[in-house]
Amino acid sequence: MIKTYFFYGVIGLVGFSIIGFFLFHLGKGLLGMFSDWRLHRELDTLEAEGESRRQAKAESNSKRLDNGCEHDFEGGLGGFPPEVCPKCGIAKEKPTGPCDHIWRAGEGAIPHSSCEKCGRKYSAANEHGSHSSALSP
Ligand SMILES: [Zn+2]
Ligand SMILES: [Zn+2]
Repeated sequence: MIKTYFFYGVIGLVGFSIIGFFLFHLGKGLLGMFSDWRLHRELDTLEAEGESRRQAKAESNSKRLDNGCEHDFEGGLGGFPPEVCPKCGIAKEKPTGPCDHIWRAGEGAIPHSSCEKCGRKYSAANEHGSHSSALSP
């Protein structure tokens, strides 16, 4: 009689520990899945934010470029900074900084341009060579 109780006791203990083991791993798995899900959700949110910011930027840039001019950013006309449309004077991408420059060609033998808003000067010669030799004729 005592032996039987002992036998059932051992069976019960083993069964209990097996069930406990599975529950433990199931719980761990669920927890892992949950934290994965949360991580993915956070990444998705970040991605969506980045995407909408990119879209807003592209949209504002395309609005900025929509001024009725058939831009020519590839022309590389002397005197204008790279990626600037020589017809209307704006850059392909909004420049970093407070001024969205509008470049106008300057008069003179050396091709150069200046921003009509902030007055910043650009000279193709200055970009490459020394300052003094570029300005002397
Ligand atoms: Zn243009
Ligand atoms: Zn400017």
